[in-house]
Amino acid sequence: MPLQAQALGKALGEDLTLHTTLCRREAGQFQKAVKTGETVVVACTQEKRLFTELAEQTEGAVSPIRFVNIRETGGWGREAEHATPKMAALLAAARLPEPEPVPTVTYKTEGRVLIIGAIDAAERAASFLADAMQVTIFAQGPGNAGGSQERRFPVVAGRLQELKGWLGAFEVSWDASNPIDLDLCTRCNACVAACPEQAIGLDYQVDLSRCTSHRDCVKVCEAAGAIDFSRDARPQTERFDVVLDLRSEKASPSFTSHALPQGYFRWDGQDLQTLLKVRELVGEFEKPRFLLTSKSCAPTAATSKSAAAPVLTFALPKPCAPTKAASKSWSIPTCAWAAGLAPRLARLGP
Ligand code: SF4
Repeated sequence: MPLQAQALGKALGEDLTLHTTLCRREAGQFQKAVKTGETVVVACTQEKRLFTELAEQTEGAVSPIRFVNIRETGGWGREAEHATPKMAALLAAARLPEPEPVPTVTYKTEGRVLIIGAIDAAERAASFLADAMQVTIFAQGPGNAGGSQERRFPVVAGRLQELKGWLGAFEVSWDASNPIDLDLCTRCNACVAACPEQAIGLDYQVDLSRCTSHRDCVKVCEAAGAIDFSRDARPQTERFDVVLDLRSEKASPSFTSHALPQGYFRWDGQDLQTLLKVRELVGEFEKPRFLLTSKSCAPTAATSKSAAAPVLTFALPKPCAPTKAASKSWSIPTCAWAAGLAPRLARLGP
């Protein structure tokens, strides 16, 4: 691998001295560098262990040591002689200080999950989740099979108006406008049988476009009192921790962002992995905090000037390097290192 020490030094703003056999005969130079107290960057990950042990055995070694691979990730290829800018960039990046710990956001969920979808599929999903979570179903029609005769889960229905939030803090708003109150309905099916227009399905909601105000359903439901055509539409808002959405991606309202919020899942009715992920969302969770940035927030050479540390570059000596047979583009390597580099990243260019 050709190392252009002068060009690298120019890019990094230091005079670099080339050495050979740094991990062997010239190890003393490395030991000298790690006593300076300044950060030393070793451009070889293959000999990381050797250099680490060497530093440990060196009396007075106080320098932090970083390692970077400029061979496989930089100059090892057919166009190695043009890789100097990339090597310089790798070295410059290696001497940047460690980044600050990423701030995190905490989510708390008690496992209140809302399943939105046709009632048959929603109840199927609910059966899988119910032992671990508190399930509520937002019915979107009966589906092929309709709801089961036993009402095992709270079911709400109506015109979905808004869906917003994130894990532990979803807010769902809808208009409960149907004459059948699902809290009161016992699923006795009397109204389904009584309706001459077949306007009531197994989601226990009246299809008002088919209803001709016959009102036979009201009569048969007298005991439960679940049907009331004079009831005003009631705006409802509830909070949930997790949302499992069985509607199509184009359904509205929904989330349109490329990255869906934490705690919101779409389910095709088949994929068990999704349900397993939902089941796990009870408790407290942390995730990195993401910030919206614009291009102008990207660090520039000018803003990074003060962040660099001295660099020690080292390429593999001959015995460590692959042979020409293994890589036709291979150039005979040279051991090289340089220390005491001052930061001048502006020279690196884009
Ligand atoms: S008659 Fe009343 S209780 Fe029975 S299914 Fe119809 S709405 Fe529900």
